[in-house]
Amino acid sequence: MSRERTKAAAFPVDRNDVDLMRAAHPPHWMNPTPDGRYNLVVIGAGPAGLTAARDAASLGAKVALVERGLIGGACVNVGGVPSKSIIRTARLYADMRDAENFGGDVPERLHADFERAMMRMRQIRQRLSRADSAVAIASEGIDLYFGEARFGGADTVEVAGRTLHFRKALVATGAHPSAPAIPGLAEAGYLDNESMFDLTQCPERLLVIGGGPLGCETAQAFCLLGAKVILAQNEPMFLPGEERDAAQILSDALAREGVEVRLNTEVVAVRREGGKKLADLTREGDTTTISVDEIITGVGRSPNVGGLGLEEAGVAYDADGIKVDDHLRTTNTHIYAAGDVCLEYKFTHTAEATARIVVRNALFRGHERLSELVVPWCTYTDPEIAHVGLYPIEARRDGIPVKTYTVLMHDVARAVMDGEEEGFVKIHVREGSDRILGATVVASHAGEMINAVTLAIRSGMGLHALADVIHPFPTQAQGIKMAGDAYRRTRLTSLRRRLAARWLAWSRR
Ligand SMILES: Cc1cc2nc3c(=O)[nH]c(=O)nc-3n(C[C@H](O)[C@H](O)[C@H](O)COP(=O)(O)OP(=O)(O)OC[C@H]3O[C@@H](n4cnc5c(N)ncnc54)[C@H](O)[C@@H]3O)c2cc1C
Repeated sequence: MSRERTKAAAFPVDRNDVDLMRAAHPPHWMNPTPDGRYNLVVIGAGPAGLTAARDAASLGAKVALVERGLIGGACVNVGGVPSKSIIRTARLYADMRDAENFGGDVPERLHADFERAMMRMRQIRQRLSRADSAVAIASEGIDLYFGEARFGGADTVEVAGRTLHFRKALVATGAHPSAPAIPGLAEAGYLDNESMFDLTQCPERLLVIGGGPLGCETAQAFCLLGAKVILAQNEPMFLPGEERDAAQILSDALAREGVEVRLNTEVVAVRREGGKKLADLTREGDTTTISVDEIITGVGRSPNVGGLGLEEAGVAYDADGIKVDDHLRTTNTHIYAAGDVCLEYKFTHTAEATARIVVRNALFRGHERLSELVVPWCTYTDPEIAHVGLYPIEARRDGIPVKTYTVLMHDVARAVMDGEEEGFVKIHVREGSDRILGATVVASHAGEMINAVTLAIRSGMGLHALADVIHPFPTQAQGIKMAGDAYRRTRLTSLRRRLAARWLAWSRR
């Protein structure tokens, strides 16, 4: 059973959280009084809703933005911002433990200070929320309403006793953590992304359920911050969508760092005994019971579609979210959707990109298409795993012949100097051409490196052209150029080689 929260996480109260709430949901906010029809009513002030409201208002549209919880949505409050902030501290401790490999000494009595790591996270979250404060949004000419929004009909939204009339509306209500259907789990209690950032003490023994991006990032970070982590995944590999060798590198890295990796393992029951939580894990018919202090689930996200009055508005949806066409229009042609509530790929950058499409299509009769977006993504483990475009398996399924150019990070000078040699750059092209189909990068900074390939695909540049891009030496992104060089070497046919040799021999005379 999944659930939807009506508010973002109830944060523990420290100064940073109080300031964050003041910015993101001021306690004494006075909702405006609607005055005439809006060009655009936006439901949800996460990355999608904020982007759409701001872009539309900056172009002169009359815009209403409705938020029931905290401005910033999952990203700032309970998603990418807090998770990447604690990952940074986790990496610091990983580096300190690895000091000898860098010619240093491991500090004596090295002990991860979880409490301070979480405090730093709260400071960062508060700081980043300032740019999107209620006051800042209102000052941009947007009518900001706090409250639970619900369609009253095909062209109205109800919020906090007010009726907002619209020409166009955008549903950008995001998603919430799916709860795994494990007997006893709800009764025993568990954390998900809406509650785990409230922790102030590191659990001694922690079970993380789910080996997707969220589960892997969480397991690694908590392990490096001092927890004894067991990561259970009910499939043979972590990150099931990614290339197998990428997932294998991650699996090895997690195990090396001390995460107890349990693949092909199902958590079948949970119960509470004393102060502990006991979890039954089965693998190939064998059941073992582990005792942990806390359980975190990271098994996926379900769209926020409940209570919105979508039926009254004529907007079709199912368990995967709101149904949209390639222009992001719902079954009510005046209502659009963007972000996690309608997308398969649930990322901040896709939420923002789809919101931009909606503004152009809804307000300016544009014809921009979701299918034309080139969307990269990254799992922020160490090493990071980033991808863009097609996987070879997808290309072959579509009958496209694939040739892959691979550079191992241990051949990239900067990666060797940094002691970050694990991973690879793989660029897949259509065989017989340099047209880039996709790429996977596994490296410490894969999320930065993938951008060059995304730009190339977006602008129609081939792998040949990537070999011409000059990178400052030494950078890990040189791995991308090296893949281009590898392609270029294959173009040196024996005829060209003979002609070049003949020319050089002649020019020596
Ligand atoms: C732990 C974690 C880590 C993540 N890390 C990354 C990352 O590193 N990179 C990345 O790209 N993505 C990451 N994501 C995903 C990213 O956070 C989401 O894809 C993004 O926030 C989606 O934006 P959105 O605007 O569609 O929805 P949301 O951010 O969910 O915002 C939706 C908003 O709508 C509001 N709302 C819902 N219903 C109503 C209603 N009826 N009335 C009024 N308001 C309503 C909600 O309160 C919420 O504020 C992460 C997610 C999680 C959980």
